[in-house]
Amino acid sequence: MTERIYEALNKASTLLEEKELDPGAARILMEFITQKSRTDLFTDIRDFLPAEQQEEFWVKAEELFQGKPVQYIIGEESFYGRMFEVNEHVLIPRPETEELVYGAIERCASLFPNKKINVADIGTGSGAIAITFKKEWPEALVTATDISGEALTVAKRNAQTLEADIAFLEGDLADPLSESKWDVILSNPPYIARSEAVEMSETVLAHEPHSALFADEDGLYFYRKLAKSLPQLMNKCSLIGVEIGYLQGPAVHKLFQDAFPGSVVETVKDINGKDRIVFCKSCE
Ligand code: SAM
Ligand code: GLN
Repeated sequence: MTERIYEALNKASTLLEEKELDPGAARILMEFITQKSRTDLFTDIRDFLPAEQQEEFWVKAEELFQGKPVQYIIGEESFYGRMFEVNEHVLIPRPETEELVYGAIERCASLFPNKKINVADIGTGSGAIAITFKKEWPEALVTATDISGEALTVAKRNAQTLEADIAFLEGDLADPLSESKWDVILSNPPYIARSEAVEMSETVLAHEPHSALFADEDGLYFYRKLAKSLPQLMNKCSLIGVEIGYLQGPAVHKLFQDAFPGSVVETVKDINGKDRIVFCKSCE
């Protein structure tokens, strides 16, 4: 018995809702399986699903019902208008992080009229920040680091697919960057306090790498380390941009203001009105 697209979608969305999972994931899965855009899917919603697509939909929907993020099932997520491969070794890039990249580019445009800047992304995961920066600012020399070799393998594949020339280095935080001086350093480090795990969705908690999510010292560990090591690595005129947890604005602002006394430090809110990014701009 073949189903129409909307019948399968409604059934899967309802089952997801019953399990308190995101019902929107069913549509993303259906778009992927039918290879239709959101608009085409809507136009063709009364079409019958070919048998093999129906079969594939329900096999993969079963993983959705187990709480697996749809992005890991279909193996991709869009970031800044480009498609990135993702798997269980990397964090699924978030829309908030697009705002970090956008804000950094905006600030770089006025800080660095000389466009050949040296940029690093610490803890690159899928490569989303580094690759996007390179695509948007092709003259930049971009380096991406991660402590996870498995993450770097994914990031390298994304760089190849998206034709972005990036240097990749494996290592702990700023260690791999110590041989050069940097104009721009961006990072979305792990920042969730371990005590916050109880409030997190099972979809994130049971599937995304904990080494990408959690940090000690109430989630501030990585910012403390960065505030200590980055002053030796930055050029005179520089921009640092870090994504933060929504409660961490004042603490991270102070860490960077203390580490870079002459700098302008800004805490920027995300589209939900929550503190999400700290920028530290120096130009002596
Ligand atoms: N930059 C990606 C993004 O924004 O989607 C991934 C960010 S994820 C929150 C944090 C990343 O930092 C993970 O890929 C993790 O492997 C990496 N990481 C964790 N500890 C690290 C360390 N000590 N040094 C370098 N990278 C680290
Ligand atoms: N924003 C991510 C989340 O909650 C966390 C990313 C991070 O720790 N850097 O799900």
